[in-house]
Formats: sequence, C-alpha cells, structure tokens
Amino acid sequence: MPAASQGANDWIDGFLFVANMPILDFLNTEPVLADEPTELLPDFQALERWLIASGMVTSPGLRAILRGWRHSTRATAFLQKLIAFRERLREAVLRMEKGSSPIHAFLSELNSLLRQYPRHTSLRKRGAKFVRETIFSPREPADLWAPFIEATANLLSETQSSRIRKCESCVLHFFDTSKKGSRRWCSMNICGNKFKVAAYQKRKRRNNPATA
Ligand SMILES: [Zn+2]
Repeated sequence: MPAASQGANDWIDGFLFVANMPILDFLNTEPVLADEPTELLPDFQALERWLIASGMVTSPGLRAILRGWRHSTRATAFLQKLIAFRERLREAVLRMEKGSSPIHAFLSELNSLLRQYPRHTSLRKRGAKFVRETIFSPREPADLWAPFIEATANLLSETQSSRIRKCESCVLHFFDTSKKGSRRWCSMNICGNKFKVAAYQKRKRRNNPATA
C-alpha cells in the first residue's frame, strides 16, 4: 500500500486503527500491504507499541514494566501464543460475520483463559458517586492475556454481531458504528476510494469505449 494512500487517522505508530474496537484492531495486525500479508507484531517490542497505541496500556508504570520484558523469553513465548490466539479469533469473527457462532473449542479456550486471568476491579469515589474500575497490574507477560480475553468476551457477549464486518475489498475487520449500518470498507482512505476510482473508471470505459 503506497504511503500516499494511508490516511493520517487510520494509522498510529505504524498500526491500523480503523475498527472502532481495539480487539478488532488487534485482529487487523496482519494486513495485506504491497500484496503480501504483513505481520505487524513480529516481536514483543512491537506488541508493546501496539498496546500503547491501542490505549490498552496508558500508565507510565505499566509502560516501564513492559519495557523491562522486552528481551525476556517469557514475553516472546506469550507473544507466540497471542498470535496463535489471534488466528483462532479471526476464524471466530469470520463465523460471527456469517451469522454463526464461534466453534466450541474457541469458547472453551476463552473460558479457560477467563478463569486463569480474572478481571479485578475496585471502587473509586468520583464526586458523590462511586465508579468501578478495572485494575490491570501484570506481574508477568502472561498476565497480558487479561485485556485481550476481556475484550474478546465483550465482543462475543455484548456486541451486535450484525455490525461486525469484514471489509469488502481487503482482510480487515471493523465494527460498523455508522448511523445506517451500511459501512462497507475498512477505511475510505485505504479501500473506499480505491473502489470508487475503479467503479468510476469502469463507468467511463463503458460510456467511452473508444478511449478505454
Ligand atoms: Zn479494506
């Protein structure tokens, strides 16, 4: 994909954010660039950058913890498992987009991970009210499962599946938040305009066959 076609808002720190949901943006970390599937998470440092770009990791303390894991074998092992999970998630999302459910094995895996890495919350006073906040304090790389499985569980349980869609002309997925629910492309900058230019050229050829 030429740099000129990359919309400024679609990319953050070399990653695509077009999906309206971080877990689908995570699925989009292997886009097809220059006709080749391209792994955007080749090492833990890339995952570290993605976690920050996606907003899953915000505090300076957490960033420092991630930095400390950069060269650890446990972090590399976690990343390999996470990438394998991403591909099973892709299969689950493709099934949901066709109106069916993820396979049983995927649900079992997800439930097992939810038990292993439970969400911890605490109450914080805000004004006259209390708000419930998720506590995320990983002690080892594997604890990074928590935000991914939590987001996957939300995708399966709380998201209108008819609005989860794959782009009509590439491998990217998104959650359609448009009013009409008629979004067709990952992004106008990436695929929408390409499609419109192709349709325009086709129309032009049809109207002026001599100049084609
Ligand atoms: Zn696309």
